[in-house]
Amino acid sequence: MPQLIMKFGGTSVADIDRIKNAAARIKAETENGHDVIAVVSAMAGRTNELNASVEAISPFFDAREYDTVVATGEIVSAGLLTLALQEANVPARSWQGWQIPILTSAVHGAAQILNISTDAINSKFNEGMRVAVVAGFQGVTSDKRVSTLGRGGSDTSAVALAAAFGAKRCDIFTDVDGVFTADPRLVTKARKLDRVTYEEMLELSSLGAKVLQTRSVELAMRHKVRLRVRSSFNETNGTLVCDEEEIMENKAVSGVAHSRDEAKVTLLSVADRPGIAAAIFGTLSEASVTVDMIVQNISASGRTDLTFSCPVNQIKRAEKKLRELEKGQDVNFDSLVFDTEVCKLSVVGIGMRSQSGVAAKMFQALADYGINIKVIATSEIKISVLVERKFMELGVQALHDAFDLHHG
Ligand code: ADP
Ligand code: ASP
Ligand code: MG
Repeated sequence: MPQLIMKFGGTSVADIDRIKNAAARIKAETENGHDVIAVVSAMAGRTNELNASVEAISPFFDAREYDTVVATGEIVSAGLLTLALQEANVPARSWQGWQIPILTSAVHGAAQILNISTDAINSKFNEGMRVAVVAGFQGVTSDKRVSTLGRGGSDTSAVALAAAFGAKRCDIFTDVDGVFTADPRLVTKARKLDRVTYEEMLELSSLGAKVLQTRSVELAMRHKVRLRVRSSFNETNGTLVCDEEEIMENKAVSGVAHSRDEAKVTLLSVADRPGIAAAIFGTLSEASVTVDMIVQNISASGRTDLTFSCPVNQIKRAEKKLRELEKGQDVNFDSLVFDTEVCKLSVVGIGMRSQSGVAAKMFQALADYGINIKVIATSEIKISVLVERKFMELGVQALHDAFDLHHG
């Protein structure tokens, strides 16, 4: 039975040499006595190319056919890695989502895994297969259409397989040494964390740290999967994502996340009465606009301003829906104001639960560089702000310095 899940991201299977390198790492684990499920992403850049091909035919594509196209990148990687393993005398076989099967919801492009059958793969392990190479990011719906799990979804495939097979570890091999205190491509002084809690990782991922897909962290937390993020280019230990009890000391802030392409929408002077917010956010959710921060002013004379944020590429959809709503006379407002030049900066840490002063320190750090805060949102373990996009890099650096994150 498979004890280890080893997931290789796009850069880790970017060319034949890297595929051979992944095969060698997997082989070493089989020599340690482990049967392995390897999960692969498409070769770096491939999903973007496939995406562009679909959009070149029509921006209003059929999501089922979009999935048919973009799922092919992972199929190629799975076949090539299997061949490399066979060449290294490791009994291996490739598996596409439908062959396992990995059953998903029918939300094409952002499907959720509903069930993974272990029988077919297990019976091959019983026959002597040592490695099952699974095409990540994909599954099959109950009406037998190919589905995909959203960008970065191979992480989720890996964690879901770890949970289904009861694997003792799930290693995510990527192009950085682990989870850092900030994106190491933005902050050169960022420090690799040895451990990070599921809760913190969940916030960091959902606030923009794409090193793990958010859904994969949710699943790992729910099923207590031992999740490790590590480099496919060296033998270092990486970062363990684990329970709070396994971490000795909690600084107030563990990391800074950023999300570049945000937008802010304000409805000026909407009626302040029951049902208005429900109508506005109901119509936005029908159009699959992923609303994040929401701020409403105190109301003078029964009318108020309402601001929300969403990804910048959803702004057209949001505007169309809000105009329709206005025409229907259910909700009226003076005007719509868009700000498409914003980004989100966040600080995250479970230590925030017991330490005060984090917000003040964060706001001061930004103020010291003349960075104006447009919207603020908080939870128990995070504070997020929207600021002008041109300040993104400066803002992340300023926060990293203010909380002294380069020192362990
Ligand atoms: P893969 O193709 O292996 O899935 P991704 O590109 O999806 O890799 O994720 C790895 C990238 O995540 C890194 O190259 C890094 O730039 C980015 N990243 C963002 N925030 C962080 C962080 N806090 N720690 C590590 N990497 C981060
Ligand atoms: N290939 C897909 C993507 O680029 C899935 C993944 O790499 O996790 O989003
Ligand atoms: Mg990824």
